[in-house]
Amino acid sequence: MTKHIFVTGGVVSSLGKGLNSASIGLLLESRGLKVRLQKFDPYVNIDPGTMSPYEHGEVYVTDDGAETDLDLGHYERFTNSRTNRYCNFTTGSIYYSVITKERKGEYLGKTVQVIPHITNEIIECIQKLDGPDTDIVISEIGGIVGDIENQPFLEAIRQFGQRVGRENVLYIHLTLVPFLSAAEEIKTKPTQHSVGMLRQAGIQPDIIICRTEKHLGVEVKEKLSLFCNVDKNAIIEERDVKPYLYEIPLILIDQGLDTFIIQKLELKTNGNTIDRWLSILEILKNPTQATEIAIVGKYIAHQSAYESIYESLIHGGIGNNARVRVRRVESEDVEKNGARAHLEGARGILVPGGFGVRGVEGKIEAIRYARENKIPFFGICLGMQCAAIEFARNVCNLKSANSTEFDINTPDPVISLLEEQRAVSSKGGTMRLGAQPCVLHEGTKAFKAYGSREISERHRHRYEFNNRYTELFVDRGMVFSGYTSDKQFVEIMELRDHPWFVCVQFHPEFKSKPTDPHPLFREFIRASLQQ
Ligand code: GLN
Repeated sequence: MTKHIFVTGGVVSSLGKGLNSASIGLLLESRGLKVRLQKFDPYVNIDPGTMSPYEHGEVYVTDDGAETDLDLGHYERFTNSRTNRYCNFTTGSIYYSVITKERKGEYLGKTVQVIPHITNEIIECIQKLDGPDTDIVISEIGGIVGDIENQPFLEAIRQFGQRVGRENVLYIHLTLVPFLSAAEEIKTKPTQHSVGMLRQAGIQPDIIICRTEKHLGVEVKEKLSLFCNVDKNAIIEERDVKPYLYEIPLILIDQGLDTFIIQKLELKTNGNTIDRWLSILEILKNPTQATEIAIVGKYIAHQSAYESIYESLIHGGIGNNARVRVRRVESEDVEKNGARAHLEGARGILVPGGFGVRGVEGKIEAIRYARENKIPFFGICLGMQCAAIEFARNVCNLKSANSTEFDINTPDPVISLLEEQRAVSSKGGTMRLGAQPCVLHEGTKAFKAYGSREISERHRHRYEFNNRYTELFVDRGMVFSGYTSDKQFVEIMELRDHPWFVCVQFHPEFKSKPTDPHPLFREFIRASLQQ
């Protein structure tokens, strides 16, 4: 039987529920258990795909083409479990499903209500990950206890515990324990109130993870244990771990969290394989070399708009025993001050994905700078499209070349709308999404990185390279190193006479892990180290 862990949050948001859920997943996996993770988000959008990165941060894409919360990226990076569309539900998607059923007449004769219909729907979503191959499902409840939107989810997980038996379910609450510098005191009251609110919803947490700047000490732990009615061993202190997110699992292990969970849920474990994780931490802390990569994007100011890319660069560093420093460059600043002002000294330049015309000219200038100065360059999705525009304008002399996304009347649409997108008008979930096979040409940098002819990568785009320009590009030194298996679309292009200039239409950052760095990020970092 599959057991369940629910992770809720209190006091403030952004405490790292996703990272903690992922870390707990890793702890249990390394004890030989099969784990799956999912997230419930309280907002009304069906998925985050239509939200600006400023609102929501990165949109993470799964193999099966779901546009999801970036926490799923943490789940895949920390554990071996793969995510899919059953790993992220929102208030919107839950209501949409219930309302669709209502219209079909599935509740005929009944008044459809939050309780039991919405809560039952949530319970069905929780159980979608159950199965003989899953020992534990970890479900993260987005938002914080006390939010109006949070209530149906809390009610559902309470009922769930009641239904499957309290011995099969564990509730973990993540809170902030602030230190007031004026009073020089650690304050437990916000956590007490938060747990109080959880109890009002009928949930007694089994474990409390306390985010804190200061060491809590025995007294504070005892106080929290007493007032929150939680075992003393289950009050976990979690100090800030920046810059190594990957240290969180060790903090939890050091305080015995894995053993506590295993005993509480009566799980049968098999070995302990945390060593691999320890070895990546060792490289992170004591690398033998270092490099600096500039990312030129337009959501640079948002902490997590390029989350998977930042992480993948670190992985590329792990693959080369190197520390990677990231220089965040706002593409509009490049437009204002020129590329050199912002990029000088960087040993690699990366232009990530994006939408809309703002900042595009700055990205194109940055790419020109990388091409002309032979600085390793990695273009991802929009980054590849901008590289095609730059090459058309400055190498092929097509001065007005553009993507039809930015200039519908351009005389040289080197990037144009995918044929299958021409009739599409609604915006939600309608891009070319998810994993698609791609065939590589031998003898190219891409082939050398992957070491195989057929690969699979995840996509999220509407526009593509226009094959009308293939011959001209090849004549001027561009190599088309990867195509879709039907040879219709360019997936990878690279420059012949350049140390490392590789552009991809897909998103390799969604498949990189600290324990298994993505080959393109690994090679990009290698090239930058040789710079
Ligand atoms: N805006 C471009 C497209 O839709 C690129 C998308 C992306 O970078 N994810 O094709």
